[in-house]
Amino acid sequence: MAARKQGLLALFDVDGTLTAPRKAATPQMLEFMRELRKVVTVGVVGGSDLSKISEQLGKTVIDEYDYVFSENGLVAHKDGKLIGTQSLKSFLGGEKLKEFINFTLHYIADLDIPIKRGTFIEFRSGMLNISPIGRNCSQEERDEFERYDKIHNIRPKMVSVLREKFAHLNLTFSIGGQISFDVFPQGWDKTYCLRYLDDFNEIHFFGDKTYKGGNDHEIFESERTVGHTVTSPEDTMEKCKALFLAKP
Ligand SMILES: [Mg+2]
Repeated sequence: MAARKQGLLALFDVDGTLTAPRKAATPQMLEFMRELRKVVTVGVVGGSDLSKISEQLGKTVIDEYDYVFSENGLVAHKDGKLIGTQSLKSFLGGEKLKEFINFTLHYIADLDIPIKRGTFIEFRSGMLNISPIGRNCSQEERDEFERYDKIHNIRPKMVSVLREKFAHLNLTFSIGGQISFDVFPQGWDKTYCLRYLDDFNEIHFFGDKTYKGGNDHEIFESERTVGHTVTSPEDTMEKCKALFLAKP
């Protein structure tokens, strides 16, 4: 791979960029990425954990790319080897986490909404997912909560209380989907992986959700990257051909 240009990296979001949403990458895409890697250093960064990314990009994913960042880079692999891990538990520490979880459970207990089910806080390695109705409600209950929340602003009110109460923890709150919101330390979006990429002075990032509020927005906007918005895996290939594979 001697022909690869020093300091140049092509970095890709996974879902919606290298694969159709929640689908596996096509054989054509996998082959295209192998060809691309002959001329440029290639990394991938996904919000999912490594097992989910392996389902989408193949079991050998950590060996197929120069860098693989799962959970936005909280788990980082380079040349097939683990080079870094981070978790909410080790970052905040047990005491602060407990204080946050206790307060949140009290808040939910005091919340008067039409129905509650179970699993109000889901503890993930890099975030807490909090649901006032509880994650194991039915689809119908989910739809009902979403309608109720639009009128009564249950989630936005709860977020503003938590944001104020725990301002010292520098957390980011992200309302998404129908019934829950995510809580994670500031900067634990896809820009987290950039800390491993100091050797590169030209990083091209490709993502499908680059708009404000989308999960590619921060890294797309970062001054460390040249951002490219793509609409599908086919569009990703076209843009890469033009940028990296066009014959002079
Ligand atoms: Mg995406």
